[in-house]
Amino acid sequence: MAKQTRALVTGAGGFIGHHLTTFLKKQGYWVRGVDVKRPEYSATAADEFLVADLRVWDNALKAAQDIDEVYALAADMGGMGFISKHHAQILHNNSLINLNTLEAAHQNGVTRLLYTSSACVYPEYLQEDANVKPLKEEDAYPAQPQDAYGWEKLVTERLCMHYFQDYGLETRTVRFHNIFGPLGTWDGGREKAPAAMCRKVAYAKLTGHDEIEIWGDGEQTRSFCYIDDCVQGIHKLMRSDYREPLNLGQDRLITINQLADMVANIAGIQISKKHIAGPQGVRGRNSDNTRLREVLGWEPQISLEEGLAQTYAWIEEQVRHKLGGNGNANAVAREPTAAHAD
Ligand code: NAD
Repeated sequence: MAKQTRALVTGAGGFIGHHLTTFLKKQGYWVRGVDVKRPEYSATAADEFLVADLRVWDNALKAAQDIDEVYALAADMGGMGFISKHHAQILHNNSLINLNTLEAAHQNGVTRLLYTSSACVYPEYLQEDANVKPLKEEDAYPAQPQDAYGWEKLVTERLCMHYFQDYGLETRTVRFHNIFGPLGTWDGGREKAPAAMCRKVAYAKLTGHDEIEIWGDGEQTRSFCYIDDCVQGIHKLMRSDYREPLNLGQDRLITINQLADMVANIAGIQISKKHIAGPQGVRGRNSDNTRLREVLGWEPQISLEEGLAQTYAWIEEQVRHKLGGNGNANAVAREPTAAHAD
């Protein structure tokens, strides 16, 4: 009988790591998860789960023991509101996590490591127009990411390349473009645009307050990729022999205003939009999937409407529960109402 592959998923208590753990278990892997917290919304499928801080070297070394493959997802991150305000914290924490994770994989004789980078590595000067040209992998240089979050991702991409060149550790690097879906952060300040929008529309529907606040004019653009496609893509890339960074996202560009209308349509309500000042990130961002199709012979399949319908249904349930728990609709007065891109 073939030996069962032993995988480590870092950030297994987070949104993508939790879904990836479930996916890998279904594929027959033995999985160890590691995170500073357990998944918040449903139990982990991992065989073993370490609650540990990867900024601490001994924890990273222990997490990678007896592991064949590492999926490195742990990061101190959030949506635009968070990323634009915590540069030192993000650069410090994520550098430590990634330096430790790569070195621990190397010292433990891990054969493959997949690193989760981001579309935030792309230079600001290519993303100044809402009608942005889709970003190809080679567009990352000359480098000028907007935030410390993107700079750290870029440096870790280089670290992955050098760990292969110097030590033979097979590294894979994926650049996500706005992943969304159920069981992700939907309130508290770290949530991203699709979850924030679903929450706002759910509050509007359940309380009858139909006004939605949006940061900026809402004409900033993004593409959004559903979580089931994301975990499929991660797995396909890990199994491939491709060592360069690769985009993983949808290439359908929409504005934040359109996103709001789409969610309202799914919820079956009319909303009015109030545009307020707030961090918006780059003006436009889209994925060029040419290389993704070439390398994997595949690209994301699930439509935005289909993915948002699943996500909205789950978030409406969370909001309903919260409002019920608070006992009245006045909870909306305390609910942060801005929606943003990233
Ligand atoms: P997430 O915040 O839900 O998950 C990240 C997890 O890392 C969290 O559970 C967090 O507790 C954990 N973590 C933070 N600090 C840690 C530490 N010191 N030690 C151990 N664990 C720690 O985020 P996500 O959306 O699941 O993102 C996963 C990865 O994908 C991240 O590296 C992120 O930067 C990257 N990414 C995500 C998106 C997206 O749209 N979600 C886009 C681009 C890149």
